[in-house]
Amino acid sequence: MVGGGASGLVAAWRAGSRGHRVRLLEGNSRLGAKLLISGGGKCNLTHEGGVKELMAAFPSDQARFLRPALHAFGSGDLREQLQRLGVATYVRENGRVFPQDRPGSAAQVLEALETLARQAGVEIRTEARVVALEGQAPGLRQVLLASGQRLGADLFILATGGASYPETGTRGEALGWLQHLGVGGRPWFPALAPIPLKEPRPAWEGVALREGSLVLRDGVGGKRLSSFTGDILFTRRGITGPAALELSEAVEEARRRGRAWLGYLLGRGDEAALEAELLELQRVNPHLSMGKWIHRRLPERLVAHVCEKAGLAPDTRFKALARPGRRALVSLLSEFPLGEPGPVVLERGEVCAGGVALEQINPRTMLVRGWDNLKVCGELLDLNGPVGGYNLQAAFSTGYLAGDMAQQE
Ligand SMILES: Cc1cc2nc3c(=O)[nH]c(=O)nc-3n(C[C@H](O)[C@H](O)[C@H](O)COP(=O)(O)OP(=O)(O)OC[C@H]3O[C@@H](n4cnc5c(N)ncnc54)[C@H](O)[C@@H]3O)c2cc1C
Repeated sequence: MVGGGASGLVAAWRAGSRGHRVRLLEGNSRLGAKLLISGGGKCNLTHEGGVKELMAAFPSDQARFLRPALHAFGSGDLREQLQRLGVATYVRENGRVFPQDRPGSAAQVLEALETLARQAGVEIRTEARVVALEGQAPGLRQVLLASGQRLGADLFILATGGASYPETGTRGEALGWLQHLGVGGRPWFPALAPIPLKEPRPAWEGVALREGSLVLRDGVGGKRLSSFTGDILFTRRGITGPAALELSEAVEEARRRGRAWLGYLLGRGDEAALEAELLELQRVNPHLSMGKWIHRRLPERLVAHVCEKAGLAPDTRFKALARPGRRALVSLLSEFPLGEPGPVVLERGEVCAGGVALEQINPRTMLVRGWDNLKVCGELLDLNGPVGGYNLQAAFSTGYLAGDMAQQE
């Protein structure tokens, strides 16, 4: 068993509890470094819902692949196991499941998983970094450790995670080893990551745009390629927040094709309604200043920028608003322009797209097709769900099936 994160710990526990002798190799000096920082340290460990609801969050090929794993070990099963070990969980309004609010709640989840594994007799070895796999289909012979030691086993499970946040021990190298052994995969690709902007606005750091949608277009004023409803938050280099994270993969794909442009649709972005509102205001409230009105719709720090772009002084009164200024305001305030994105950084993603191709894996056993003793689970697979507990659940569920060795018994 290689990798002592969410997926590896569950796989090790499950295999151990079925009476197998399990040795878990973790490269770091401690287990579950990524689990500990998940959900900002609070660990959004799963999402409420049955198999169908969880599947619906993933792209259709990933959902089909996950079905047996979610049936075997779903959101309710996970919560039950944790409850047995004293980690009570609760569901937030948006369906996200967290441990009861206590400081360091992610650490409680990790502790519970480690307890399960140890109780099942799993031998845990930390600072045991695997650097190569040796063998050829259909049989892996051994793994080579950084120390030079070689270790054999009847069955190998790889749960080394993705390639983001390499400081947590996940460098993504297992994908290359597997490709070398003829197991296909898709290169790592950024997902659920902040989006840098070509023209960042450090002065707006911390400002949020809410109750609208982030829109990705095929170049300035181009056709809409994708959008996501949710808040964004300006950072020193660009934007983050739910909508930015969810759209980051599509943004990077469009950027690499050379045609990506971003805007934030304020409200429903209805230009005709906004124009009508402005005309009405000119009639009923001619002394209202532009700056005041814009601030009703946008955070204060953005007001001067909008006025400048529209060619208006913030103290311009509505009665003095001419057609060009009105048109400019309508355009800026229906879809606030963010401009071209910069390269989305793989390492800053909550997950990675890419990984071992799902068609190479038997979804009931997690065995690599064409191999008798090699399994893969967790984020090393080409699986990536949205924010909301789906990614950890996918890691737990695939880990459970990987460790469930009934098929080999
Ligand atoms: C900041 C952040 C917040 C997140 N928040 C959430 C959240 O709230 N909810 C959610 O569902 N998901 C969240 N995620 C995603 C989630 O953490 C991952 O999807 C999940 O941890 C994947 O589990 P895994 O076991 O496959 O990989 P990991 O948990 O990354 O575990 C892989 C383990 O393998 C070890 N390893 C790697 N290579 C080797 C090697 N060569 N030899 C030995 N050991 C090795 C690593 O050190 C690591 O311990 C978050 C991710 C990040 C980065």
